[in-house]
Amino acid sequence: MNKNPIHIIGGGLAGSEAAWQAAEAGVPVVLHEMRPVRGTDAHKTDGLAELVCSNSFRSDDAETNAVGLLHAEMRLAGSLIMSAGDANQVPAGGALAVDRDGFSEAVTRKIEAHPLITIRREEVPGLPRADWDQAIVATGPLTAAGLAQSIADVTGADALAFFDAIAPIVHFDTIDMDICWFQSRYDKVGPGGTGKDYINCPMDKEQYLAFVQALVDGQKTEFKQWEGTPYFDGCLPIEIMAERGVETLRHGPMKPMGLTNAHNPGVKAYAVVQLRQDNALGTLYNMVGFQTKLKHAEQVRVFRTIPGLETAEFARLGGLHRNTYINSPTLLDASLQLKSRPGLRFAGQITGCEGYVESAAIGLLAGRFAAAERLGHAPLVPPLTTAFGALLNHITGGHIVSDDEPGKRSFQPMNVNFGLFPPVEAPKAEGKRLRGKDKTVAKRRAVTSRALADCREWLGLPSRAEAAE
Ligand SMILES: Cc1cc2nc3c(=O)[nH]c(=O)nc-3n(C[C@H](O)[C@H](O)[C@H](O)COP(=O)(O)OP(=O)(O)OC[C@H]3O[C@@H](n4cnc5c(N)ncnc54)[C@H](O)[C@@H]3O)c2cc1C
Repeated sequence: MNKNPIHIIGGGLAGSEAAWQAAEAGVPVVLHEMRPVRGTDAHKTDGLAELVCSNSFRSDDAETNAVGLLHAEMRLAGSLIMSAGDANQVPAGGALAVDRDGFSEAVTRKIEAHPLITIRREEVPGLPRADWDQAIVATGPLTAAGLAQSIADVTGADALAFFDAIAPIVHFDTIDMDICWFQSRYDKVGPGGTGKDYINCPMDKEQYLAFVQALVDGQKTEFKQWEGTPYFDGCLPIEIMAERGVETLRHGPMKPMGLTNAHNPGVKAYAVVQLRQDNALGTLYNMVGFQTKLKHAEQVRVFRTIPGLETAEFARLGGLHRNTYINSPTLLDASLQLKSRPGLRFAGQITGCEGYVESAAIGLLAGRFAAAERLGHAPLVPPLTTAFGALLNHITGGHIVSDDEPGKRSFQPMNVNFGLFPPVEAPKAEGKRLRGKDKTVAKRRAVTSRALADCREWLGLPSRAEAAE
């Protein structure tokens, strides 16, 4: 076996988990963390895996919640982040919330004590050196400037975002297609398109005027002091466009031109909200041009006034924050490796996942993939039916790259959610079709039990039935 260590840059959620997984597989690791030598705008301590904002890992319900399922899969895979989280839990209803200091101390202690891990407190100023033949960049949304610039240089200058406005994403099966219709503007058949690539939601004049007013009046999130950077790609939040004049949106993302309401062809819509397919499975649609800094509850309230979205469920809500992430679907292969430099992997939020748990999960995968290669095996990618596989697939290929909004990047960071999984048939109860909430819950249960069985198989663990014998 090649005895060279795997070099991991960044001792956050992803880097700590990657280091643990590789070392537990028997491979030496050097973990480079720049704090306390150099800080970030959000971190306050020199602890590994510091939680920079909330102390919640969100829902711990592995049966009907996608992030709860990810927790369960990570526990099966021997996750350090999950064991430290479980050991430092504080009461939070159905959520897993942790004592942030106890959690970070537990991760730091475990990493420091591991005989195969060396921690170097230093900033890595550029891309990993050429003699680091296996390396993982896990430097997060606040990657230090020197390394961020080197990454931009190798991946293409437009491939790294610094300030993001993101638009909401809706679960397709919650859109009312008796009101909305499929059509591309002027029925244009773009590359790979059919002329019916968008879902259109029609508004009359009264609905439009009320909607613009609701955007102007809606509560916005406040900017933090580190959010002084200009808008990415001139991608203005929708409420700022609304403030510029009542007609601005009707001449921008809500223009009705080239669209005919399939349910009511004789009546021209005054304005139209368009949604575009977001993943190859066709289970998620993003609201085109609807990047926003409205508070999350306000987004749900205001966007549900859009005809056809009255009962919409959101896989992700819009937001505005500083972020550093690469255009992973173009740049990375299925095992998170930079296509242009084999042996160099990315992990954590910099790959385009969102959230503590997702970042740690991608770190877990990157650590396993790098260790497998070091041990002479091909990395074994988790099946798409697992939360690991669904999230990985979003990052490395499941997202559809759109080229109809020049200058804008369509790949956006995302939390794990059920829209990323291949659909299942809704189970029946006593031969009868389920409806409404019962149907949703039954489908989620079917997805999560399939996921956990497939995850066990991927990890080489006995099935639950075998384990119980
Ligand atoms: C302000 C803010 C608030 C957030 N709030 C939440 C929240 O409430 N809930 C949630 O789930 N997610 C939140 N996130 C997202 C959260 O940061 C990420 O989900 C998670 O921390 C990312 O994990 P990571 O390991 O990719 O990055 P991080 O945890 O940020 O770890 C990256 C590490 O790399 C180090 N580093 C950077 N550059 C270098 C370098 N050149 N050399 C050596 N070390 C380097 C950093 O010091 C850091 O320790 C927030 C993000 C930000 C920026």
